[in-house]
Amino acid sequence: MSNAPLGRSETGDPLLLTPGPLTTSKTTKAAMIHDWGSRDATFLAANASMLKRIAALAGHADSHVTVPVQGSGTFAVEAMITSMVPKNGKLLLAINGAYGVRARRMAEIAGRASASVEFPEDRPVDPAAVDAALAADPAITHVFVVHCETTSGVLNPVDAVADVVAKRSRKLLVDAMSAFGALGLAATTKYDALAASSNKCIEGVPGLGFVVCDKAAIAAAKGNATTLTLDLHDQWAGFEKTGQWRFTPPVHAIMAFSQALDEHAAEGGVEGRGGRYRRNCKVLVDGLRAMGFQTLLPDAQQAPIIVTVHMPADPKFVFQTFYDRLKEQGYVIYPGKLTVADSFRIGCIGRLDETHMKGALAAIKATLAEMGVASGAPARKAA
Ligand SMILES: *Cc1c(COP(=O)(O)O)cnc(C)c1O
Repeated sequence: MSNAPLGRSETGDPLLLTPGPLTTSKTTKAAMIHDWGSRDATFLAANASMLKRIAALAGHADSHVTVPVQGSGTFAVEAMITSMVPKNGKLLLAINGAYGVRARRMAEIAGRASASVEFPEDRPVDPAAVDAALAADPAITHVFVVHCETTSGVLNPVDAVADVVAKRSRKLLVDAMSAFGALGLAATTKYDALAASSNKCIEGVPGLGFVVCDKAAIAAAKGNATTLTLDLHDQWAGFEKTGQWRFTPPVHAIMAFSQALDEHAAEGGVEGRGGRYRRNCKVLVDGLRAMGFQTLLPDAQQAPIIVTVHMPADPKFVFQTFYDRLKEQGYVIYPGKLTVADSFRIGCIGRLDETHMKGALAAIKATLAEMGVASGAPARKAA
């Protein structure tokens, strides 16, 4: 049995080593213990400030505007795709994981023409392939790419893809859900829209999605939407006119998000937050390798967000038992989502530091010993 202390958050909950919802600070949760009407002046001021701060965090306080969407991150991605790609447009999707596949379904359901360039889940998107696809098909108006593909944790070269897209005079849409707030893009990187949500690297609670939109692009998006609720142009126009949400806003999620943004700034913004996650990731990966585990990705392609680990070969290793025993010790990990390899995932994001990662490693070590598993090594070396 492990004699390490239980993994616990500031509010005594098991730690979430997952891609979101995440462990949040006590102060972020405490920001929700009030009631606000959707027309409440305190709420509306916090909401307006939040929207400005998100665009500033993206590095585009002047050129872009934040349009929020009720719901999880997927709602924001669907709002982005269906509102920014016009009815006669065509979307090229760079796909290397489940989130790219999901985005393609959104385009198909909305009746938008689409094409895709696909890559293995354990490889980053190749900008040269995007370039070739754009050269070959002048009908393509927009390109979609995911910053960190959370399916595997692979980091995609969004800056380089953006350069190719700009050179070919097309528009870029970015799913930066699991990167925003921890991994930045170059100041020169151009995009029409970038989607993210409250419950990932900003460490808020779930319920709020948002899309950072180029001002000219959102102004030109009237009439594109395929649904009322996910019409980003209408949502934006509503804010411009009245400063209010069209439909009931997730007031508590927004107030918690405002607090989470304060805490993000106090930590040193993207650099500070990304630095902590990089330290978490390094401690985790080093500790796992010391137990024989093998990560899916080489370090150069690994984003410090979530780590995919090959399933150990030892027949005594039973994932469900491993998962349940870790949960009992206060560490919630995540099943794999890969189609290419049997794997599980461990997140580095949320209100977690190196001490928490070391605690998780101690719990993993104790659990392997209990199961009688000598090594975390997979059946064969991944390429
Ligand atoms: C989390 C995530 C989403 C949105 O997922 P939800 O479950 O709707 O919050 C979209 N794209 C990526 C890359 C993500 O990591």
